Amino acid sequence: MNEQLLKQKLTDLGADLVGFSRLEESPIKGSDLVYAVTVAVKLPDAVLKTINERPTIEYFHEYRTANAILDQIVFLGSRIIEKLGYEAFPVAASQSSIDRKDGYSGLYPHKTSARLSGLGFIGRNGLFISTKYGSKVRLATIYTNMPVTAEYPVIENGCKGCNACKNACPAGAITGNDFDPEKGREHIFNAEKCSKNMKTYQNVGRGAVCGICIKVCPYNKL
Ligand code: SF4
Ligand code: SF4
Repeated sequence: MNEQLLKQKLTDLGADLVGFSRLEESPIKGSDLVYAVTVAVKLPDAVLKTINERPTIEYFHEYRTANAILDQIVFLGSRIIEKLGYEAFPVAASQSSIDRKDGYSGLYPHKTSARLSGLGFIGRNGLFISTKYGSKVRLATIYTNMPVTAEYPVIENGCKGCNACKNACPAGAITGNDFDPEKGREHIFNAEKCSKNMKTYQNVGRGAVCGICIKVCPYNKL
């Protein structure tokens, strides 16, 4: 009951997708916040179409706008959960708190709970690919102790032999392996190569976006 109410309120705030999952342990150390609410906001197709072998200023702007909307949705969503009598911890779309082990991962990975929610799967490009909108989405998460249940089964893999992102990646960052939750991200994707390539687009959003592997993915139907 609470989760359907929450889903409706998050949708009213601008969420395009809302999913629920339960984690083995909370990413918030020492807490009982083992449930996750995944929120996705879709990027506009017309803007993604402007990417052609390199990112564009227009894409960078909408990427940041989607992040800002998500940050507000999970902040306000956390307030809603608190009013229902539970604790909630909102995690921003682009976290400033980076895991110092590799410098490329957020401390609280959105994709883990997004995959467990059954809203989509992790593609060979390392991105979350939703069944409804492909990877044309940005994600944010709320961790909570309000019990929620995933509405859909986990989808292990949807790439099915496609290698479009591997072939298009200018950095050679994509290995072509299928995502395997038992293996690290390096099995499918080299974050350092990707990051270095993004920095070559210094004239586009200070080198923080690329988007080529989003543009070419057949799930995105652009
Ligand atoms: S964002 Fe760009 S550099 Fe990074 S994996 Fe995708 S295509 Fe390659
Ligand atoms: S482009 Fe193909 S291989 Fe890459 S994520 Fe999309 S479906 Fe998977």
